[in-house]
Parts: sequence; C-alpha cells; structure tokens
Amino acid sequence: MVRIDKSGTPVPEILAPGEEGHQKTENMKLDYDNGKRTFSFSSRIYGHKTVKETLKNLQYHKCCFCEAKITHISHGDVEHFRPKGGFQTSLNERLTKPGYYWLAYDFSNLFLACQICNQSYKKNYFPLANEGQRARSHHDDYRQEQSLILHPEFDNPEQHLTFEQEVIKPLHGSVRGKETIKRTGLNRKLLSDRRFERLKIFNVLALIARNNLPNMQEARELFRQMALPESEYSLMIKSNFPDLVQV
Ligand SMILES: [Zn+2]
Repeated sequence: MVRIDKSGTPVPEILAPGEEGHQKTENMKLDYDNGKRTFSFSSRIYGHKTVKETLKNLQYHKCCFCEAKITHISHGDVEHFRPKGGFQTSLNERLTKPGYYWLAYDFSNLFLACQICNQSYKKNYFPLANEGQRARSHHDDYRQEQSLILHPEFDNPEQHLTFEQEVIKPLHGSVRGKETIKRTGLNRKLLSDRRFERLKIFNVLALIARNNLPNMQEARELFRQMALPESEYSLMIKSNFPDLVQV
C-alpha cells in the first residue's frame, strides 16, 4: 500500500457539483432528514467509466491496498473507503445502517481495488479508534474520525507499514497498520507467494548492485524503477532495499 495523490486530478464530471452524483446525494440528505435510513445506490454513477478510468490512471492500474496491477486481468472494483450502505466494526456484527450514504458519490471516498481486497476482506468493515467520533449522518464531520484502516490518500501508509522480505508488517507496532493488514488480507498466501517470486529476483539483483559486479548500473536502475509509485509492490522493494532505491 502506498499513498495515492488525487490533488492534481479534476473530479470526474458525473460526480462534480450540480451533476448527477451530486443531485442524488442532495436527495439522500433530504430523505435522511425525513427519516429514511436505508438507501440504494447507482453503480452506473460511482462506477461510471469516466470515474473508473480516472482512478486507473491515478493509481497506475494498481489496487489501492495490495499494490497488485489488476486491470490487465480483471476490471477491478470502484471501492468506497467509507462503506456507503452500512458498516460493521467486527465481522460477527450485524450491519449498522445507514452507512456513509452522503459519500457514495464523493470522489475522495472512491478508489480502485482488486476484488479480493475489496469483496473478500474489507467488505463493509470500518472500525474506528474512537467509536464516539463516528459520523452517523451528513450533519456530522467524518473528518474527525480516525479509521483503523488506513486511508489511501489522507494517510501515508509508509508511516504505518513495512516489509520483512515478502511479509508485510506494522511499522513501529502501528495499530492502524496492523488492522489494515488484517482487514484487507495483505498477507494472504497467494499474494505473499506472488511477492516472493518478485523478491527472489531482486535479492539476486541486490548482490549485483551492492558488490560492483558487471551490470551493477542496470541493476541499480531496476531498483530505482521498482520503487516508483507506478510499480507493482513498490513498498516491498523500498522496505527491503532502502540503500538501493535512492535516485
Ligand atoms: Zn488488492
């Protein structure tokens, strides 16, 4: 997981003020004030091809949690960081409604995620450090919340997560790092196996780069490239080879 920077990217038109997503949000706010607590949402709007394309480009076609490149083999999900329909704080708990209905069409709440991180692990799970700060409607300020799952833009995952070989770990015992790993399945076996395949190659390249062997420059250039945000599993490379990823 690495930070995703949306700051230089315009909000897709369908989610912009006055457009369809915005209008639906305003209607839901009125409905909430009239007592409605269960809402339906239109994937045609939040999952519109312009939204998805924008997220793909912003995230270099990588899942916002596991950093796998996904779009060459799957469509990927438009994931709501704060669950739109309802939330759970533990997996055995029933869904609490409403969810963050007013953020369903808010671009800051949307990310591209792989189906396994999104549908098999994170689902509607959204625990907070302090449940008393939870925003329960559009009248509350959700920015006061501290979610235990790291936000891919407003948090810097590199301050909470690190790697030892292919295994992701909380950095300095970060509770939020630990919860993020658990709730998005970042150490699931097939994902770890895939990272290990990548790591084996880079462990050999590190020998070349650190020992002035022939092709040292080429090896160093590969480390530089693999630490860039567009590269798959970039945090694993940065964590394992801090001396080799400097520009
Ligand atoms: Zn993923």
